[in-house]
Amino acid sequence: MSTLPPCPKCNSEFTYEDGQQLVCPECAHEWSATAAADAGEGDKVIKDAVGNVLQDGDSVSVIKDLKVKGTSLVVKVGTKVKNIRLCDGDHDIDCKIDGIGPMKLKSEFVKKV
Ligand SMILES: [Zn+2]
Repeated sequence: MSTLPPCPKCNSEFTYEDGQQLVCPECAHEWSATAAADAGEGDKVIKDAVGNVLQDGDSVSVIKDLKVKGTSLVVKVGTKVKNIRLCDGDHDIDCKIDGIGPMKLKSEFVKKV
């Protein structure tokens, strides 16, 4: 049987499972067991607009004009982006675009090439 993670609030080791939830008997904190399991797995799969799995170092092209936040620059549809780096967050691709510089993209707006 696998060991349950300690309570994230008070670090108690006496956590128990209640359906999908983990419960701490000491501080009454409840949290989701599935979220904890997902976090433990680490690598999350990031897919492009058509469902290809993206990896660090891939090249992609932009499928829609994207405004660069805080500037008047626009990354035009069809722009090729080389050597992407996957990261966490709302914008899950870290990259550098010729003429624009380092920026973050959303995987839903790119297609693997
Ligand atoms: Zn607790």
